[in-house]
Amino acid sequence: MSFEFVRQVMSPEELKQRLPLSDYAVRIKKERDEEIRKVFTGESDKFLVIIGPCSADNEDAVLDYLSRLTKVADEVKEKLIVIPRIYTNKPRTTGEGYKGIVSQPDPEKKPDFQEGLMAMRRMHLRAIDETGLTAADEMLYPENWLYIDDILSYVAVGARSVEDQQHRLTISGMDIPAGMKNPTSGAFSVMMNSVVAAQASHTFLYRQYEVNTTGNPLAHTILRGATNKHNQNIANYHYEDLMHVLEMYQERPQLKNPACIVDANHSNSNKQYAEQPRIVKEVIHSRRMNKDLHSLVKGVMVESYIEPGSQKVGEHIYGKSITDPCIGWNTTRELLLEMADIL
Ligand code: PEP
Ligand code: MN
Repeated sequence: MSFEFVRQVMSPEELKQRLPLSDYAVRIKKERDEEIRKVFTGESDKFLVIIGPCSADNEDAVLDYLSRLTKVADEVKEKLIVIPRIYTNKPRTTGEGYKGIVSQPDPEKKPDFQEGLMAMRRMHLRAIDETGLTAADEMLYPENWLYIDDILSYVAVGARSVEDQQHRLTISGMDIPAGMKNPTSGAFSVMMNSVVAAQASHTFLYRQYEVNTTGNPLAHTILRGATNKHNQNIANYHYEDLMHVLEMYQERPQLKNPACIVDANHSNSNKQYAEQPRIVKEVIHSRRMNKDLHSLVKGVMVESYIEPGSQKVGEHIYGKSITDPCIGWNTTRELLLEMADIL
């Protein structure tokens, strides 16, 4: 047999017993979920900013970043709802090497999933208890959802996962907003199909159970740019792209809560991370040009950390991304304040 069953790790119930939510965290999560839900249902006109490092690889640096973020979030709270990216499953594009804190709590040591699951949950809990911010994470492995289903306020399905049935079906059982990214090929139809699947109810096999889901009316689209066969990046944050998403929603009246988030990095910036503030401002401008776009575009996603750029694992620069390059703290603060000003 080619699989080696190394050991059984703890169940979601065991992990939750070991690292339970504080009463404060339960209250914050409920309040934030409600506030964020209202943006998707159109009851609130606040703008979402899903922002933070590409991967949350270092608990202290992430918590330091979040403690700065929460202060600015408070300054702009009349206009913006800030949702930090705490991405605990983040691998590199080819799947080689580092696969996120959930598999490697120490990026320089061997995988250890038992410790990794605890590190993942602990970081999210510390974030809420110390900063009052509930986070977004990418659902890279659908079976990991139950380990943090009581914590997260937002889930993204990545460009490489969005065509996968198990991802779509798992999202259909969640009661928080889930953003389905356009695939790396850029086909909007794939992204829309995944929203249709995620909003529908399903019966399927999940963690050795037959389960029923109710469908997730808060599943929506995320534009992250595309790559063509010549490996060129094709941005999709412009006015015409947003109008195209709007038309596709209009052709699918069964979809609830039409919504689009624009990811300013990845193939939209061509990983020219410093372009993100300009891209965000263009999106806000497009939204101002058309009232239907104003209600469709609910927010942006930005990759940001303490230090600008990125580094290799092992360089040990505090607060600098070890995956995709990010804008640094000063630019981040300026961007959030400016957004609140122009919205
Ligand atoms: C990310 O959000 O860091 C990411 C890699 O996204 P995508 O799936 O769009 O590549
Ligand atoms: Mn990234």
